[in-house]
Amino acid sequence: MIDHFAQRLAAWQTLHGRHDLPWQHKGAYATWISEIMLQQTQVQVVIPYFQKFMQDFPTVNDLAKSSLDSVLSHWAGLGYYSRARNLHKAANIVVNQYNGDIPKDLNSLIQLPGIGRSTAGAILSLGFGIRGVIQDGNVRRVLSRLFCIDGDLSKADAQKTLWKLADELTPQSGNDARTHTQAMMDLGSLICRRNSPACPRCPFSDDCLALQRGEVSQFPKPKRVKQRPDETWVVLQVINEHNETLLMQRPMSGIWGGLFTPPIGSSLSEIGKRLEIRDVLDANYQGELTHAFSHFKVRLEHYRLKIHSNDILSLGEWHLLSVFQKGVPAPIQKLLLNKDVL
Ligand code: SF4
Repeated sequence: MIDHFAQRLAAWQTLHGRHDLPWQHKGAYATWISEIMLQQTQVQVVIPYFQKFMQDFPTVNDLAKSSLDSVLSHWAGLGYYSRARNLHKAANIVVNQYNGDIPKDLNSLIQLPGIGRSTAGAILSLGFGIRGVIQDGNVRRVLSRLFCIDGDLSKADAQKTLWKLADELTPQSGNDARTHTQAMMDLGSLICRRNSPACPRCPFSDDCLALQRGEVSQFPKPKRVKQRPDETWVVLQVINEHNETLLMQRPMSGIWGGLFTPPIGSSLSEIGKRLEIRDVLDANYQGELTHAFSHFKVRLEHYRLKIHSNDILSLGEWHLLSVFQKGVPAPIQKLLLNKDVL
């Protein structure tokens, strides 16, 4: 094990770490929201979303009593909407089962939807100032380089090794654990970056196995991700006699779950058949854009059709887009507002 790891890391964090993130020192609720938003999303992207979210849902009670639609609309643009659905569900559990107090122990926290062991560790340490161990992407990368941990880090044996190391390196006392957690995140994010790590500025450059072996670029081993082939989706904006657009809520599970979109399908004819629109082929092409999901890209083709609301199977809701408040996926918003569309 590296000598005085936690003390050296804390000393580095005090001088060089981040001290002005908007969720720091704001308690367990703010830590929880920020940790969920930061999964799969960069800090700079998260900050404005976090600030708006905290302004509109300042406590777990406010979040629990808000509608899911309102939470989803605050999430539009962040992607991975199951995170927002789980947050809303978990907030209701905290209010109903824990009287609005976020639980302070690992076992209760990981029972809440969307909270895994690492997020729970962050809430305990950063939020409550009690001991909690984390193992997010930053920590995994740092540990895999420091100790040359080989193989796919998401596999069970590597996970076991990583958790053991993370646990051994985390100090026992609560306040030190708070600094330690922030420091591990900062080291991964500011110094031991995925590309071009700043090894000369790293407090562990004398201890790092990967650096000693000249193999930094080989850790962590890239995960093999199965790519889905690219797809084309037709987005049909149907507008009625009152200038309202037909919007349909997507199923809760799956892509853009719970958000509202115009009818989407593989072709105009397929949508026409499903919604019993006779003149669907009269729709006018408006433009298109490409959107990348994590494992595949989709080309969104936007068509517009004006019809009478009686001439379509009523499976959705008619809304004026200018006053619609519920969540619409960001690329669909872009299409409907015709912003930056080809
Ligand atoms: S020496 Fe370089 S590779 Fe090793 S932990 Fe520090 S920044 Fe990462």
